[in-house]
Amino acid sequence: MRVHSLNCGTMGSAGPGEPPAVCHCLLIETDADGLVLVDTGLGLLNVKDPVGSLGEDFLGWAAPVLRSEETAVRQVERLGFAASDVRHVVLTHLHRDHCGGLPDFPDASVHLHAAEYDAALPGEGIYLNAAYAHGPKWVTYDGAAGDEWMGFTGVRELDGLPEILMVPLLGHTPGHVGVAVQAENGWLLHAGDAYFHRHELREDGTWPEGWDQLQARAETDRAQRLANRDRLREAVRRPGGPVVFSAHDPVEYARRA
Ligand SMILES: [Zn+2]
Repeated sequence: MRVHSLNCGTMGSAGPGEPPAVCHCLLIETDADGLVLVDTGLGLLNVKDPVGSLGEDFLGWAAPVLRSEETAVRQVERLGFAASDVRHVVLTHLHRDHCGGLPDFPDASVHLHAAEYDAALPGEGIYLNAAYAHGPKWVTYDGAAGDEWMGFTGVRELDGLPEILMVPLLGHTPGHVGVAVQAENGWLLHAGDAYFHRHELREDGTWPEGWDQLQARAETDRAQRLANRDRLREAVRRPGGPVVFSAHDPVEYARRA
């Protein structure tokens, strides 16, 4: 399967000496059912109405540049496809910088963990429901079923998309997941916001403290998140293990783009 890495939202500084943070999304050309987008990043509604669709608080701490040419839909079109070719969207979670482009793909099925759906749908607290007010075609997955994969548990193939796995990485939010794809050169694992900075995957890593502050502000279960980060550290050391990247690390994105 051909897998494209797209930056669908450049944001403010990722720390001293770092390039600006990104919203790293994947566009997958599947054999099973057209195009699959993993996270949407920011969308056209966010560019048109930043305050209404993202909120003053998000604009303050994330400082997104908000360019329409960075939205997933415009990048899909530049690759020669139509928005309607995106049959599925898989979300790591429903924070604003991960689902902002949903209204640009109104016909897509939107796959996510049931606990994330339950937490986010009221659109309260850290969640803002502008991106899903149009009523997407939700496909939810509960946490009870699933298999073991690369040291992770509760891993599910997506309905109708056997080449793509939902990998529960709970803790950043109640239903936060990673998404694994078997690409031409091996497994990729989009880890969403399970961690932010690439050095977090090293036992002896150091990273800008701003990332820890941001994580502390957002995360709903710290112990769970850190346990999942440990699993990610182990997974990248496995022979044949996945290439892992977070949603926002600009250097990890540059390696893939
Ligand atoms: Zn995020």
